[in-house]
Amino acid sequence: MANIENRIAIVTGASRGIGAAIAGRLAREGYAVVVNYASNAKAAEELVDRIESAGGKALAAQADVSDAAAVGRLFDTTEAAFGGVDVLVNNAGVMTLATIADGDEAFVDGQIAINLKGSINCARLRTGGRIINLSSSVVGLYQPAYGVYAATKAGIEAMTHVLSKELRGRNITVNAVAPGPTATALFLDGKPQAVIDNLTRLAPLERLGQPEDLDNTVAFLAGPDGAWINGQVLRANGGII
Ligand code: NAP
Repeated sequence: MANIENRIAIVTGASRGIGAAIAGRLAREGYAVVVNYASNAKAAEELVDRIESAGGKALAAQADVSDAAAVGRLFDTTEAAFGGVDVLVNNAGVMTLATIADGDEAFVDGQIAINLKGSINCARLRTGGRIINLSSSVVGLYQPAYGVYAATKAGIEAMTHVLSKELRGRNITVNAVAPGPTATALFLDGKPQAVIDNLTRLAPLERLGQPEDLDNTVAFLAGPDGAWINGQVLRANGGII
C-alpha cells in the first residue's frame, strides 16, 4: 500500500454529518479526498475549500450512489483527477422511520437503493486498499419503526464479511463501522426533544456520538494501524449495545 500522502479516498455522502467529518479527517492525514454528495453542492464545495485552504487535496463530486452509472462516473472522475482509489468509505445513507406494516413501497425501495445497493455499486478498488462501510447499532437494538433501515444495515454487515473473503489475494480489507445515535441531521431531524434526550441517555457514556467520534474510528481502519482488521464490524457507540 502506498504512503498515506499518495493515497486516494472516496467518501460517499461527505457534504454533511459523519461523512464530512471523515473526509476532513482523511484530508488532514494526507489523503486526497473525493467529497461525494447527492444534491448539496454548496456544502460539498465549502468543505473542499476548507480542505484546500489547510493545504489538503480534495474534489467535490456529485453522484447518487443508488445509480450504478453515476457511481461509474464518480470513479472515472476520481481516477482522472487523482489516480486509482485506495480507500472507499461507503457512508452515504438515509433513514426513514415507520413500522414495517406502515411503510409504503417508496419507503422500502428508497432505503434499500441508497443504503444497500449504493454500497454495492461503490465496491471497486485497486489492489491494496480499504473499504469501510457505515452500518448502524440499530442492527442490535431492535427498536420499533427502525425495521427497514436496520435491515439495510444488517445487509451491509453481512456483505462486509462476505466481501472481505471474496477479495482474498488482493490485499484489500473490508470492515464496517456501526455508530450509535450521532448528532447529525439524519438522527436529529423530526424527533421530539424528549425522544432525543432519552436516546442520549441510553449509552452508558450518556451523550450522543459526534461526527468526530466516527472519523477517529474510520481513520484507524483506513490507516496503517488498522491493517490487520478485516471482515469486522466495529460498534463505535459509547456502549449503547
Ligand atoms: P446525514 O447528516 O443525513 O448526511 C447524509 C449524507 O449522505 C449527505 O452528505 C447526503 O448528501 C448524502 N446522501 C444521501 N443520499 C445520497 C445518495 N443517494 N447518494 C449520495 N449521497 C447521498 O447522515 P449522517 O448521520 O452523517 O449518516 C452517515 C452514515 O452514518 C449513514 O450511512 C447513516 O446510516 C450512518 N449512521 C448514522 C447514525 C446517526 O445517528 N447519525 C447512526 C448510525 C449510522 P446531500 O447533502 O447532498 O443530501
